[in-house]
Amino acid sequence: MQSNSPLPGRVAAARLERANAGLLRRVKTARRFADRRLQTAQGELIDFASNDYLGLSQEHTVVEAMVAAAREYGSGAGAAHLLGGHHPLHQQLSEQLADWLGRDKVLLFATGYMANLGTIAGLLERGDICIQDKLNHASLIDAARLSGAELKRYPHADLAAAERRLAQSEGRVSMLITDGVFSMDGDVAPLTDLAKLCQRYGSVLMVDDAHGLGVCGEQGRGSCADLSSQQLPLLMGTLGKAFGQSGAFVAADGHWIDHLTQSARPFVYSTAPPPPVAAANLAALAIIRDQPQRRQRLQDNIAHFRRLATQVGIELQDVHGPIQPLMIGDASQALKLATRLGDAGFYVPAIRPPTVPAGSARLRVTLSAAHSRQQIEALLGALETVHAH
Ligand SMILES: *Cc1c(COP(=O)(O)O)cnc(C)c1O
Repeated sequence: MQSNSPLPGRVAAARLERANAGLLRRVKTARRFADRRLQTAQGELIDFASNDYLGLSQEHTVVEAMVAAAREYGSGAGAAHLLGGHHPLHQQLSEQLADWLGRDKVLLFATGYMANLGTIAGLLERGDICIQDKLNHASLIDAARLSGAELKRYPHADLAAAERRLAQSEGRVSMLITDGVFSMDGDVAPLTDLAKLCQRYGSVLMVDDAHGLGVCGEQGRGSCADLSSQQLPLLMGTLGKAFGQSGAFVAADGHWIDHLTQSARPFVYSTAPPPPVAAANLAALAIIRDQPQRRQRLQDNIAHFRRLATQVGIELQDVHGPIQPLMIGDASQALKLATRLGDAGFYVPAIRPPTVPAGSARLRVTLSAAHSRQQIEALLGALETVHAH
């Protein structure tokens, strides 16, 4: 069929441009197993890419909780939260998350992306100001655009620049939003100082702690564990990272949550997550709260990786969480190294623009409590070999 639309031509040109720049991404099918093996069409790889930091996606008691809930209640929620889809397991999960984090209330979403869209566009409107760190997650940037607020970004973790934007915004409704732990760099935002600035200039602080929750802080309460709800009115977390499942939430005082229950469109107009997923998240939360030894195992693995990398002369960033970026710079060089690591049996993704700024392509090593010491040692052996060639 002939088409006069210019769209197919634009799509083809975009594809060619991406391919030429070494930026074409592909979906690969993989099966994952509890011992960090990843079975792909290219063979078996040890997974150093997953955000399942504590191994909870493969945890026996969590899987059993999901299966038992599915047997009892079925596989799907059947409706949106406001139309009969809010199962007692969702209510229990909301209450236990709020209790764990010492917050008044929690609103659940199907994904972190939706939680950010719903929360930010549910609170801000045209004429407001949304101040964000330049390296914030894409969903936060998209959310600001969707809200119609004016988006003002500041250079990564730059307090003075953040303060200038806050000062310019005084007297208007404004929110300052930052990742807690940055997803591509692994560093932690200057949260206490940002909270002080927000209080001084009358702005509302929101933290997306997708990568901090479950991983750091007392009982795994994340990078904001020490901030009161007065310092940090809006805390967003995902259940797809350290929880090992899927879903997300925003935690806040009741009046914020009551408002978002009406105004957060991805909450109102989307089917509630399956009750068995809520059951799995409850089981994961119990482990996160009550088993500090898992976080300790993760920390031991991170320390082991960093010690060995330093010994073989691999340059590391000054970050001590599970995300360990190895800076490469050029996107096609990063891809080449990732391919060689793949040939050696390790899945370490090359992170390229537009996910990270141009010229800052990197290999991102992600560690988990579920890695064995031998797997980490084998990865270092392979890294040493591919770096040297
Ligand atoms: C992964 C991630 C999200 C999105 O969460 P999903 O539940 O995967 O949709 C949001 N923010 C940050 C910082 C993330 O890393």
